[in-house]
Amino acid sequence: MKLLFEKSVPGRRGVCSGPSDVPTTINISDDLLRDESAALPELSELDVVRHFTELSRRNFGVDTNFYPLGSCTMKYNPKVAERIASYPGFAHLHPLLPQLRMGGMLTQGALAILYDMDMLLREITGMAGFTMQPMAGAHGELTGMMIMAAYHRDRGNNKSIVLAPDSAHGTNPASAAIAGYRVVSVASDEHGVMDMDALREAVTDEVAGIMLTCPNTLGLFNPHIREICDLIHSVDGLAYYDGANLNAIVGKARPGDFGFDIVHLNVHKTLATPHGGGGPGAGPVGVGEKLVPFLPVSIVVKRGDGTYALEYDRPKSIGYVAPFYGNFGIILRAYVYVLMQGGKGLARVAEHAVLNANYVKHKLQDHYASAADGVCKHECVFSTTESMAENGVHALDIAKALIDRGFHPPTVYFPTIVREAMMIEPTETESKETLDAFVAAMIEIAELADKDPDQLKAAPVTAPVSRPNETAAAKNLNIASL
Ligand SMILES: *Cc1c(COP(=O)(O)O)cnc(C)c1O
Repeated sequence: MKLLFEKSVPGRRGVCSGPSDVPTTINISDDLLRDESAALPELSELDVVRHFTELSRRNFGVDTNFYPLGSCTMKYNPKVAERIASYPGFAHLHPLLPQLRMGGMLTQGALAILYDMDMLLREITGMAGFTMQPMAGAHGELTGMMIMAAYHRDRGNNKSIVLAPDSAHGTNPASAAIAGYRVVSVASDEHGVMDMDALREAVTDEVAGIMLTCPNTLGLFNPHIREICDLIHSVDGLAYYDGANLNAIVGKARPGDFGFDIVHLNVHKTLATPHGGGGPGAGPVGVGEKLVPFLPVSIVVKRGDGTYALEYDRPKSIGYVAPFYGNFGIILRAYVYVLMQGGKGLARVAEHAVLNANYVKHKLQDHYASAADGVCKHECVFSTTESMAENGVHALDIAKALIDRGFHPPTVYFPTIVREAMMIEPTETESKETLDAFVAAMIEIAELADKDPDQLKAAPVTAPVSRPNETAAAKNLNIASL
């Protein structure tokens, strides 16, 4: 596809509004003006409309195709949530409008939603209080780690270590490190969950807490979860639950009941709003009773007269983690989603997420090497088989071949504990027909890996760009040079 500049024809113009009858002289001093005129592309309006429409049609998203990106739930986002978030009363609300008194009428509705969402998330997770401010999952993790640090400071505890299993999401150790902790990785056992002997050895008085991605990045729920929390609590540590993918257990089980002290949710994965593309997200953090005083300011409270207000007077608070109230529009979409589903609907979300992942796992396990035995939760992880490896076929080749077949590739090369990993999360919103089409494509690719591996190495042949140098592309953002 040509760039807009390459389509330019000297003298071509868009809309012609006729000569202006308003004087157009602007007084800009000469030193601020450039000598030659700016080289802008010259096109007709139709050229421009076609150019941008063509670009938009190359967008890949859940609204166009299946997007089984492991760990980064790409599920369908009901349009009713978008519609409600676009209501002018929400979308045009200025964050500096007064809460009460003059203009208070305008903000009470938004404050009520933040307050109600706090109550709903408490119910969903079993925690005692929430902040809605963090603007992403990783931001929620950092907020949680800052709360952990504040708790230990307040108790006079001198602790420097945060534990994280080697199957943790990559952001977990990063968040703990940014909060000032030294991260000690705990190995997995032969079943793919954290090794309990290794954990027992790692738990010392130095341990401030543990960060547990659950289900872990192999899609496995940790069966020792109670024992893990007890062990950590025995040294006055705190247990952190990475609930980014709560769609695996939502409506079925609650981190608060397992004994966790801090939990973050990616509402942009679990409760509507697809993740990714750099779009907005929200990572509310919930805490147990003893950590509520440390939550960021401000918190929405409900007063005796039924009005809502923002509370700033929280002496033990870790302070601000985001301007104003975080990504209100994303919390609002999640709120709509929760109310639409209700308790039973949320439980069905988890049932379908788990059923779909196990369906794909079952259908593909004779064609790819499964990274873990047994039943998985919301996602499954495969590796290449030995014969694929002998033919020089890598996870990347399989991912690229999927693009030619109309599917977004799964996450590849993560988790890092699995060689040639392909991490597939179908999500609860996909139909059996879609899953069957994906499975058929994956099986066709597995057969090609034996019969014609070169064909896979040439993929994708249908995309505008075939195989850019991905390392260079990440470091040199000039895509025109690739
Ligand atoms: C996506 C994800 C995160 C990070 O969330 P972001 O919104 O991308 O910052 C953390 N943990 C897990 C398990 C995740 O899947």
